[in-house]
Amino acid sequence: MRRISIFGATGSIGASTLDIVRARRSDFEIEVLSAGSNASLLARLALEFSPNQVVIAQEDQRDTLRRLLADTDIDVSAGRDALAAAASVPVDLVMSAVVGFAGLDISMSAAKHCAVLALANKESLVCAGQLLPRLCAAHGTKLLPVDSEHSAIFQCLSGEDKKTIERVIITASGGPFLNSSLEVMKNVSPIEAAKHPNWSMGQRISIDSATMFNKAMEVIEAKEMFNLNPDQIEVMVHPQSILHSLVGFTDGNLMAQLGPPNMKGPIGYALNWPDRQFVDQKRLGVGDLANLTFLHVDPIKFPALSLASKAMSLGGVAGAVFNAAKEQALDLFLAGDAGLLDMATFVDQALDQYQTSDWAKTLTIDNITLADGKTRDFVKSVALKDKD
Ligand code: NDP
Ligand code: MG
Repeated sequence: MRRISIFGATGSIGASTLDIVRARRSDFEIEVLSAGSNASLLARLALEFSPNQVVIAQEDQRDTLRRLLADTDIDVSAGRDALAAAASVPVDLVMSAVVGFAGLDISMSAAKHCAVLALANKESLVCAGQLLPRLCAAHGTKLLPVDSEHSAIFQCLSGEDKKTIERVIITASGGPFLNSSLEVMKNVSPIEAAKHPNWSMGQRISIDSATMFNKAMEVIEAKEMFNLNPDQIEVMVHPQSILHSLVGFTDGNLMAQLGPPNMKGPIGYALNWPDRQFVDQKRLGVGDLANLTFLHVDPIKFPALSLASKAMSLGGVAGAVFNAAKEQALDLFLAGDAGLLDMATFVDQALDQYQTSDWAKTLTIDNITLADGKTRDFVKSVALKDKD
């Protein structure tokens, strides 16, 4: 029996995690389920899975949630501090699957109290860098990747000496605009940008895949999770999303991990680690493997990757600046106040702006929070000026 907490239970990763739990109900006991604002879905999940507590980020949803769970003894709380407090309840595994910067507090809190931190929230590592793995190490917490590419790298490294890693190659589907012109990409709507060809994911990560900002985040995530140098990380476009990543070793051998484009594979691996257990998902056959293709990334169409390199070479809180500028630019795109391709311009300008601040060279949680707020304000002001 494993006691687990799922943060972001109402999202795409949350749903796949709960599917696996549903299929092996007697193997898991749930401590916490959380949501951002969707009280009705959170209440439905709570009635099905009977957690000890539910937490909702949006405080004005507390009363609705209390009403929906009035006939139960499930503890209901709301707000950012309540989420961090719930993440500090010791459990066997915390699934950190909130989207965006809001996931950082939860990951940092869980890192101090749980046995295994299963990390889907890539923003945590992009923003906190080595602070998160160091915190996990200090508390004896095992940090496990949930992102499919990082799960692939982790699986390839099983039983290997990390000192023998020469390089890692992360694959990218190329998203919905792999074969579209820049002119087309300039005018796409959020609905078109969120139509991922292979993966079914939340809206924000789907749109980030269309610009390859998702891949750019994953490069930083890989650097921090596996303690690599940026020049050890390559990205390769692989439109079928079957081969999730490769690791090259000093003896010239390459290891790869393959699986269907379904998050149940990496989530199941993290939930069951260090064991493997049955996961109900499609099995690959020859037909799926016969036509795997690989391409170089077009750096003009997808500048996000060179912006990730810029952030990594700047160091300090540049990862948090990169993430906040990208999140704010995405909010502007969703509101119809910016185009998809403006995201790269905003991130580039935010990184340049950041270079002028001395305090931002030091990586601390306070500076990360400051950088997040300042960068969002900066991007909003640039967007407003552009509109005038
Ligand atoms: P979704 O948008 O589907 O779900 C996000 C979850 O976070 C929901 O439960 C949402 O609640 C909750 N949430 C949103 N805002 C807040 C907030 N401010 N405070 C607390 N909770 C909040 O996202 P995904 O499941 O797609 O992604 C989750 C994370 O996993 C992201 O970091 C993403 O990059 C990463 N990831 C996702 C993959 C995927 O296949 N989906 C693959 C690899 C990584 P509500 O429903 O109430 O809004
Ligand atoms: Mg991924």
